Amino acid sequence: MTKIAFIGLGHMGLPMARNLLKAGFELSVYDLVPEVVAELAAEGARAANDTHDAVHDAEVVVSMLPASRHVEGLYLGDDGLLAYIRPGSLVLECSTIAPDAAKKVHQAAAELGIELLDAPVSGGTAGAAAGTLTFMVGGDNAVLEKARPVFQAMGKNIFHAGPAGAGQLAKVCNNQLLAVQMIGTAEAMALGVANGLDASTLAEIMRQSSGGNWVLERYNPWPGVIDTTPASHGYEGGFMSELMAKDLGLAQQTALASGNSTPMGALALQLYRLLLRQGLGQKDFSVVQRLFGEPDNS
Ligand code: NAD
Repeated sequence: MTKIAFIGLGHMGLPMARNLLKAGFELSVYDLVPEVVAELAAEGARAANDTHDAVHDAEVVVSMLPASRHVEGLYLGDDGLLAYIRPGSLVLECSTIAPDAAKKVHQAAAELGIELLDAPVSGGTAGAAAGTLTFMVGGDNAVLEKARPVFQAMGKNIFHAGPAGAGQLAKVCNNQLLAVQMIGTAEAMALGVANGLDASTLAEIMRQSSGGNWVLERYNPWPGVIDTTPASHGYEGGFMSELMAKDLGLAQQTALASGNSTPMGALALQLYRLLLRQGLGQKDFSVVQRLFGEPDNS
């Protein structure tokens, strides 16, 4: 049985780790928050005391942390985790981070004989819980094939995006598009309701018309349209606005470096920064609805 260490048990990591357990992998887990570690230990994982303890006998390491600085802090440096992972092991770095940061970690791992893939995900917390995530993988294709059974326990679509960092590039493009879809959907919902349309009726018409998109299908930002969304639960859980702002910042940095024009992404970043200034950074990113009006301000 493959021994896996899982580090970072937040909104996404916890359900992903749970699916690895369900698939029969032997799991050691660690997070800075002891309660989530205890939760998984009660379900059969080994609760590690720290990150070094988590990886000491692992053949595969999976990490799911907030941003580049957390990932670089975890793996790099004299006391970084790469020095404690056995050569020949496989690291699946699933956080969304800067493509350059991913390349840096790839390089450091390769120097120590450790195989690493950048493998950010899409599908949200619902996809993480259902085991239907999309993985966008950067790195060696042969390594991806080795990792496939682990990815398959957590996801449905596993794409090889290209060499080191390519998974992150694909993810940055995807999330810029997602933010634009979310903002556009919120704007249209507010416009229709302000002019007397019923929110659910409007949502259904647009979902089945030429404005249809992933947000209308699964993540409507208007409270009450889809019972299971963060919007219907005070914008709690899901994907925090501060993480979306981070991803939009990565998209802008990428565009700056390549000389691309990304005005929609730039505007989306500004709107998410505004939400952060309003103290809504910890709310789900669909809270952008509040900039345009929504019925329940609780
Ligand atoms: P989160 O903040 O809920 O979880 C991050 C976890 O990492 C926290 O539990 C935190 O305690 C832990 N952590 C931080 N530093 C650590 C360390 N050094 N050692 C151990 N644990 C540490 O974030 P999330 O929503 O789970 O997102 C994780 C990543 O996935 C982010 O990069 C995000 O952009 C990406 N992502 C999120 C979603 C989503 O819907 N939430 C979807 C796709 C991708």
